[in-house]
Amino acid sequence: MARLPVLEDLGDVAGKRILVRTDFNVPMEGPDEGRTITDDFRIRAALPTIEWLTSRGAKVVCASHLGRPKGKPVQKYSMDPVRARLAELAPGVELLENLRFNPGEESNSEEFVAQLVAGFDAYVDDAFGAAHRAHASVVGPPKTLPSAAGRLLQKEAEILGGLREHPKRPFVAVLGGAKVSDKLGVIEALLQTVDALVIGGGMCFTFLAAKGMPVGDSICELDQVAFCRRLLDGPKPIHLPEDIVGVDANGSYATFGVRLPDGSKGLDIGPGTAAAFCDVIMEARTVFWNGPMGMFEDPRFANGTKTVAQAVADTKAFTVVGGGDSAAALAQFGLDDSVDHVSTGGGASLEFLEFGDLPGLAALRGAPNVK
Ligand code: ADP
Ligand code: MG
Repeated sequence: MARLPVLEDLGDVAGKRILVRTDFNVPMEGPDEGRTITDDFRIRAALPTIEWLTSRGAKVVCASHLGRPKGKPVQKYSMDPVRARLAELAPGVELLENLRFNPGEESNSEEFVAQLVAGFDAYVDDAFGAAHRAHASVVGPPKTLPSAAGRLLQKEAEILGGLREHPKRPFVAVLGGAKVSDKLGVIEALLQTVDALVIGGGMCFTFLAAKGMPVGDSICELDQVAFCRRLLDGPKPIHLPEDIVGVDANGSYATFGVRLPDGSKGLDIGPGTAAAFCDVIMEARTVFWNGPMGMFEDPRFANGTKTVAQAVADTKAFTVVGGGDSAAALAQFGLDDSVDHVSTGGGASLEFLEFGDLPGLAALRGAPNVK
């Protein structure tokens, strides 16, 4: 496999016009006209790449998607607030209008690619969060322009690639979130490389059902029970909850064992489970965490996620967190600086772990400047 080209592979960038695909899909609030950015993390995350280029005399033009405008201009998803913030952080750097205002972005049309690359000398992709999409701005420019991964994309590929190829052992993956069916592929792929899997969150109930436990009204995917049973019969240890917190048939907060009564609903792992999961995390040398352990948006059901997040922050293991909601939970508990790597792409990090490659990375490796 060809090497992933990095910024140094662009040669002398002085005086060159460079198109930089960034992920400026930032959270916003407020009225459709005059929305404000609630967290500029993704803009700041692109600065090392932007500054590397501008400090060497390149002219940088950024391009990003924002929200889901579905191929037409929508005021709500205008790049104006992002452009204003970018002008403060990186004066002189331009930003194109929302790529997804053009239907050619998502359909990967040749015309839109031609429009995007016109007038540019090189292309840099630093949008890890979009690298799993074969969209025009991701896979199109490297067909003709000398191209490179920006620092953020390079780091994601190195760290997630390292997890797949040479993790320090024991390597433990902690998975949660709402649904098994969202993550079937990644669960199977992780079982090839990890030493143990820890399962909490809504998805644990499909696994518990596969062990014959009653799960009450908890979210449970009956069509995935056989799949979970097959995984449980496999060679790798899969740690499941031994107690559950949720609501009883009257809707009152309750703690249960691992068998849920009729009418009750599991919404978090229990304290015994949280302690057991912590032990596994503390003894690991590599931890990948994706998916909250419960419905953490409700403080009554946030304890499991908080305890696991604290263990991921405290363990001596090399720790990587992927997934939008998991990263949000970590930030909510003020622990995002205590893990080794928080992936900037939820879907992209899971797809990379599953397939070992992404369309955006493959496109860069095929660029004309890569030997
Ligand atoms: P990520 O974005 O980190 O990949 P997911 O999107 O898969 O995570 O899952 C996050 C969602 O799962 C959260 O909104 C959370 O409320 C929900 N969730 C977790 N546990 C449960 C549960 N027991 N019942 C219902 N929803 C749950
Ligand atoms: Mg999510």
